[in-house]
Amino acid sequence: MTHRIAGIELGGTKCVATLCDDQRRILDQTTVPTTSPDVTLPALSAILARWACDSPFSALGIGSFGPVGLTPHTPDFGHITATAKPGWRNADVLGILSGPHDVPCRFDTDVNAAALAEGRWGAAQGLEDFAYVTVGTGVGVGLVVHGRPTRGLGHCELGHIRVPRLPGDIWPGHCPYHGDCVEGLAAGPAIKARLGQKPLHEATAQDPVWTGVAHALAQMCHGMLMSCGPHRILIGGGVANGQPHLRGMIERMLRESVAGYIPLPGEPFILPPALGDQAGPLGPIALGFSALESVRPGSPVSRAQPLLAAGNG
Ligand code: ADP
Ligand code: ZN
Repeated sequence: MTHRIAGIELGGTKCVATLCDDQRRILDQTTVPTTSPDVTLPALSAILARWACDSPFSALGIGSFGPVGLTPHTPDFGHITATAKPGWRNADVLGILSGPHDVPCRFDTDVNAAALAEGRWGAAQGLEDFAYVTVGTGVGVGLVVHGRPTRGLGHCELGHIRVPRLPGDIWPGHCPYHGDCVEGLAAGPAIKARLGQKPLHEATAQDPVWTGVAHALAQMCHGMLMSCGPHRILIGGGVANGQPHLRGMIERMLRESVAGYIPLPGEPFILPPALGDQAGPLGPIALGFSALESVRPGSPVSRAQPLLAAGNG
């Protein structure tokens, strides 16, 4: 039987609904602006309903901007939690989108989902331990350990760790919670503020900010390497893609910082994601594939609570 997999990526500015076949070929893809939950979630639900009406899909994956609740059997599970985005706090994304569909479903952060897509089809294929970092409006990290994104009290928030500063750099940083955490030093809005609000599409490699940006990201990578030992770190997002010189700087600084203590491979360790523009939209498709695979062959495909509860990559 050919399966069709539905995926919903919820981003801060737009959401992408994707329908794939079981060879990961995209059958349909629609973009919906992220406005308020009362408008955006019903619009996404309508797309799912249309697809289900044509021919039922076999699994659903949802990857969302965060923070989100990922602990099963808690009131927050499947909800967006502490976001500053107006109207979205406590939005029941999973309940609203998956409710009408009696199929296996998996829910995760957008960046964890994209990491799993890169692991399945992109630049981390064959690796059980790797990281996917997006440097854009924020710094998001999907850290995959033994094949699963890290879990615990919340989900991976490595973009908000504090790291040693570049000697002499006392700029206070731009994160409203932590000031000079990695996101407060290296995300797009921080860089823009540091450049006197210069639009970043006009930024060049000569602007005097990249050493500090690369240093903060290299220190974050150092922390990941020493804690979880990823075999590769993929770095994408609007800032990294718009400033391709950054990856080489981060790689050099990381190697210098690690100082041979862990033998890094000779080939580049920091790479761009391979799925390009589709890394985000294919993330929820990867979640949907995982949900489908976790249903034992021969057992009825049903959205049983234990499967939902297992919703972790
Ligand atoms: P998001 O993180 O919201 O999903 P993106 O990954 O596209 O979105 O990142 C958006 C960020 O990338 C913005 O802060 C934007 O200013 C920044 N950006 C866009 N173009 C460039 C560029 N050429 N150089 C550096 N930063 C850029
Ligand atoms: Zn922070």
